[in-house]
Amino acid sequence: MKATCWYGKKDVRVDNVPDPEIINPRDAIVKVTSTAICGSDLHLYNGFVPAMEKGDILGHEFMGEVVDVGDEVHSLKVGDRVVVPFPIACGNCFFCQEKLYSVCENSNPNAWMAEKMWGHSPSGIFGYSHLTGGYAGGQAEYVRVPFADVGPLKVPDGMSDEQVLFLSDILPTGYMAAEACEIKPGSTVAVWGCGPVGQFAIQSAYLLGAERVIAIDRLPERLRMAYDKSKAIALNYEQVDIAEALKDMTGGRGPDACIDAVGMEAHGMGIMGAYDRVKQAMAAQTDRPVALRQALMSCRNGGVVSIPGVYGGFLDKVPFGSVMNRSLTIKTGQTHVQRYMQPLLERIRNGDFDPAVIITHRMALDDAAYAYEIFCDKQDECIKVVLRP
Ligand code: NAD
Ligand code: ZN
Ligand code: ZN
Repeated sequence: MKATCWYGKKDVRVDNVPDPEIINPRDAIVKVTSTAICGSDLHLYNGFVPAMEKGDILGHEFMGEVVDVGDEVHSLKVGDRVVVPFPIACGNCFFCQEKLYSVCENSNPNAWMAEKMWGHSPSGIFGYSHLTGGYAGGQAEYVRVPFADVGPLKVPDGMSDEQVLFLSDILPTGYMAAEACEIKPGSTVAVWGCGPVGQFAIQSAYLLGAERVIAIDRLPERLRMAYDKSKAIALNYEQVDIAEALKDMTGGRGPDACIDAVGMEAHGMGIMGAYDRVKQAMAAQTDRPVALRQALMSCRNGGVVSIPGVYGGFLDKVPFGSVMNRSLTIKTGQTHVQRYMQPLLERIRNGDFDPAVIITHRMALDDAAYAYEIFCDKQDECIKVVLRP
C-alpha cells in the first residue's frame, strides 16, 4: 500500500510499504478514506520530536471503512464507516475508567522510553514517534487500529467524511481546551494561535458561553477566519503589543482564561524570540514557549491557562512565580478524544459546529510531501489539508 513516511527533518515521502495485518484479537484494519495533517505532525516534520525512525508512517487524524476485524471485536463489522481517535486506549485500565484516555496505561509498548523523559508514560498515539508506541499512522491507504472494540466511532448514514473527520483530534482538542477554561457568563477568553486547534477553541469558547473571545496570531487569513466564522476580536501580534492590548480590553485585569493553541514552535519576536530560537537549535531547550509565557503573564489573577499546544520537554524562562503568586490554574494534556466524540457528533448534527469550514486544501495522498510543505510554511493561505488516499 501507499503511506506517508518520515525520513528526517522536512523530508516526508509517499512510499510503497507492506499492508497492515491483524496482530491482536482486538485489532481492526481500516481502509482510509480521508486523513488530515495536524500542527502536531509539524513538530515531527521539523525534527523536534525524538525517537522518530526513517520510514515511520505518519498520521493520527483519519477515518475510513473497516475491512477486517480481530476475533474479539464485536462492536464493528466489515463495511462500517468509522472515525478513529488519535490516542490509543484500552478502555479498561484505571485511566480509561477515569475517562483519561490519552494516558491509558496499556497502549504504549515503549512506556520505558517515555518514563525516562516524562517520569510516567502517556498512551500510545498513531504515527507519533516511538516514544508513544511507534504505531504506524493513518496518512496511508490502510491502518491497523488497536483496541478497535472501544475507540472508533461509527459514522451515521448521511454524514460526509469532511463533517466528521476532525472528531479524530482537533475538534475535541479545541473543545477540551475551552471546557477547561471554566467559562461563565461575561467571561473573556484569549486564544493564542488561530490554526485549526485555535479556531475550534474559539468556537467552543463562544458555545460554552464566553462573552468575548480574543484571537491572537499574525497570519491575516487565520485572523480573518476567526473573525468571519466566529466573531472573535482579532489581534495581530506583529502590529499590537498583546500584553498591553489585553490589559486595555479588560480594564487592566486580564482575560479570565487564556488558551495556548500554539505549542512548542511558537514564533517569537525581539530578544526573547531570538534567545529561544538559538537555544532550541543548539538543543539546549526543547521548546520555544513564547505564547505560553505571554498567556501566563496576561491571565487575570485566579484565572485559568489552558494549554492544548504540544510541548515536548524542558522549557526555559517560564514565569512560574506568576502562576504561584497570582493563583493561576494550569490545565493541559493530549486530548481525551474518546470522551468527546459522541457529544460533539451530536453538536455537528444540530449545527453547533460546521468543522469542514476550516479545510482550505484537498489533495491526493500522493501529494503529501507538498501538502506538508505548504502547511508548514503557511503558504497559499493553507489552514487545513485533507488527503484522500
Ligand atoms: P498550526 O501550526 O496550524 O497553528 C499554530 C498557529 O500559531 C499558527 O497560525 C501560527 O501563526 C500561530 N503562532 C505562532 N507563534 C505564535 C505566537 N507567538 N503567538 C500567537 N500565535 C502564534 O497548528 P494547529 O494544528 O492549530 O495546532 C496547534 C497546536 O496544538 C500545536 O502545538 C499542536 O501540536 C497542538 N495540538 C495538540 C493536541 C492535543 O491533544 N493537546 C491535538 C492537536 C494539536
Ligand atoms: Zn493532531
Ligand atoms: Zn486504558
